[in-house]
This record gives sequence, structure tokens and C-alpha cells, in this order.
Amino acid sequence: MTFNSLGLSEPLLRAISKKGYSEPSPIQSKVIPVILEKNDVLASAQTGTGKTAGFTLPILQLLGNERQLSNRPVRALILTPTRELAAQIYDNVRAYSAYMDIKSAVIFGGVKANPQIAALKKGVDILIATPGRLLDLHNQHFLSLHKIEVLVLDEADRMLDMGFQRDINRILNLLPPRRQNLLFSATFSKEIKRLAHGFMDRPKLIEATPENTTVEKINQKVYRVDKKKKTDLILDLIAGGRWQQVLVFTRTKHGANRLTEKMVKADISAAAIHGNKSQGARTKALDGFKKGNVRVLVATDIAARGLDIPLLPHVINYELPNVPEDYVHRIGRTGRAGASGIALSLVSLDEVEYLRDIEKLIDIKIPKETIDGFEPTEKESDLPPSPKKKNFNRSQSKSSSKQYRRNKKPKRK
Ligand code: AMP
Repeated sequence: MTFNSLGLSEPLLRAISKKGYSEPSPIQSKVIPVILEKNDVLASAQTGTGKTAGFTLPILQLLGNERQLSNRPVRALILTPTRELAAQIYDNVRAYSAYMDIKSAVIFGGVKANPQIAALKKGVDILIATPGRLLDLHNQHFLSLHKIEVLVLDEADRMLDMGFQRDINRILNLLPPRRQNLLFSATFSKEIKRLAHGFMDRPKLIEATPENTTVEKINQKVYRVDKKKKTDLILDLIAGGRWQQVLVFTRTKHGANRLTEKMVKADISAAAIHGNKSQGARTKALDGFKKGNVRVLVATDIAARGLDIPLLPHVINYELPNVPEDYVHRIGRTGRAGASGIALSLVSLDEVEYLRDIEKLIDIKIPKETIDGFEPTEKESDLPPSPKKKNFNRSQSKSSSKQYRRNKKPKRK
């Protein structure tokens, strides 16, 4: 399959070749023709599948086919849950539209609104936005949404997890009824299906799983260790192994800050990325990490979600997530593009139940080891009352479990 055979126009093909892509990814091959035919689409695809180009390229083609209106009202709206993802999509839209007469802009919270308002005033064909800032600027009459032809909800499952359901409903009410709707989500939970049902018109279902990151391609290990020894162990692993680019996950923002401070004290360059950090700090941390100036990036799940973090040899779960699906998202950051990756989890006694849930979801028993000098000594009686599990939706767990199992190769006997 080539991009040419998908029916994309010459300016788009030029931009694609400048990006260096030789052929479309599986999701792109499936989704581009369907979007070009102006269908609504419900697609399951995670970050790393090439989904952004999957919706951006055909949208650009559809918009480019028509004459631009003189006052340039927004004609395509891409909604995303996080600022980072919004910024990333904007970069993609700009790159793919480099040889077209298409204007784009991005708006998200946490930064001054004035430059965003100025961009809107100049006229914008494609707007990438997080829901809060979009509503905010709409309420102040800085933009109009009544000429929208295409709506994209990207990472829709995470938008619901982050509590954007009401904002999404409000935004849907501002849009003209006749339009094309595209919804991308890592999982098809009951909530996603309900959301899709509410506003989409006979959507075509498209499923694509990351070609490069099926769970069993990743070398997963659990190190059993006492909670209070985790920091020493992680410092030992990173320093002793001379690991240069490590993504570490913690469960909380405070945990991320504390661990980052300890890394820096131990002379390991590190930065934290989480929801309480300013936009500037997050961008700086991610840039430093990509360039190799920051050796360890300590992240919470929400902050890392959707980020285009390059191929990583090591991902460490300093703490296990209490939502098993997050484990799969986390370890999907390693072993990209067929390269072998290692995903380590430091598991203390109070997390054994989370581990069980994760193993059930991925249908794999993760090998457990102990490291000399860090043998666990915790007993049930040492534990504080069990941490309350976040009330995540069981049906979501079931549907993703099916999805991940489908990826599994048959077990060799
Ligand atoms: P996404 O899933 O949209 O976040 O894309 C993941 C990464 O894949 C990004 O760095 C894209 O630039 C890259 N990418 C997208 N499409 C292709 C393609 N057809 N060939 C190679 N890389 C691609």
C-alpha cells in the first residue's frame, strides 16, 4: 500500500514525503479512504499507531477541495484531552498542510489567551483545542463554531476519564447538525459506545492496535521490593545500569516531584511532568528528555498520555497504576518500532492486588525477581489499611482485555 493509492492530493504527498514516511500505517490505510468518503468513523487506536496523520491528512484534503470562505470560519475542530496532545496535533497539522492554503491554530488552558485570540481573529480553518479553553473563548465570543464541517474527538476515552463529558456535550450543542464526526479512542468501553451513539451517524468501525507494541513483545519484569526501599533500588538500577533515557511512572504528582528531587540529589538529571506543572515546564522537560539532556522523566499517567515520546529502552513503574489499562499504556512506551524494550515494575506488598488485576488483563504472568540487598521483608501486618481502589469501570476493563488478548500470538506448547 502506498500513500499515493489512498487518493491523497499532491501537496499532501509532498508533505508526507518530507516527513520521511514511506508507506501508510495500518490505521492510516484503513481510515483515510473512509474519511475521504465523508463517513463518520469510530476508531480504536492508541498513540503510536499513526492515528494523527490518519485523520489529519483526509481532513486537509476535504477542506482543501473546497474554496476557502473569505472570513475563514473554523471548519474542522479537533478536540483533545491534554495540552501536550493539542500542541502535538497542531505541529502535525502544520507539517501536513505546509503546501496548502490552510490555516490552523491551537488553543488550550494554562497559558495566556491573548495570542490564541489574536490567531483566531486572523481566521482559522482547522482548530485544535482542549474543551475548557474552547468553551471559555467561545463564551467570550472570540470564535464561532457554526460552520464546522468535521469534528474529531481524539483520545475520547481519556477525555471521559478526565471528566470532560459535560464540556463535550456543551460543545456538541454548539455545532451545526450536519457534519462529519470522527472519534478515536484506545478502548471501546460502554461509555464510549454510549457517547458515540449520542452524536454519530452510522459510524464505520475501524480497529487498529499498535503494530509495534503488542504486550508480549515487551520484556516485562517485576522486582518485589519493600515500599521504603524503592527509591534506593531505582537509583541503583539507573546509575548501575548506566541507563540514559528512562521513563518512570509514579501514581501521584507529589510522588513524581519527590522522586525527581531524589534523582537530582543523586546526580541523575531528571524532570517531572504532571498536571500541576506549568505548560512551559512540561514542554521544557519533554524537550530535554527527547534531546538527551534529561536522563529520567518522571511522569504521572495523565501527563504522559498521548505524548509522542520517542523509542525508549526502559520504562519503570515506580508504582503500579490502580487502573490496569494504564499499565498497558505505560509499557507501550518501550519496545517501539520492533526494538526490544524493558518494562520494570517495582512492586511492594500493598500493590500485589494491582499486579493481579494487570496480569488478568494482559493474560500474562509477569516474571518476578528480587535483587540482592533489596529482598522484600514486608508482612501483611505491616501494611496500612488497604488503599481505596479508584472506582474504574469494570466493563472498560473487560472490553480492553478482549482487545489485548486478540493481539496475543497463540501460546507455544
Ligand atoms: P501518532 O500515533 O499519530 O501519535 O504517531 C506516532 C508517530 O508515528 C509520530 O511520530 C508520527 O510522526 C509517526 N508516523 C505517523 N505516520 C507514519 C508513517 N506512515 N510512517 C512512519 N511514521 C509515521
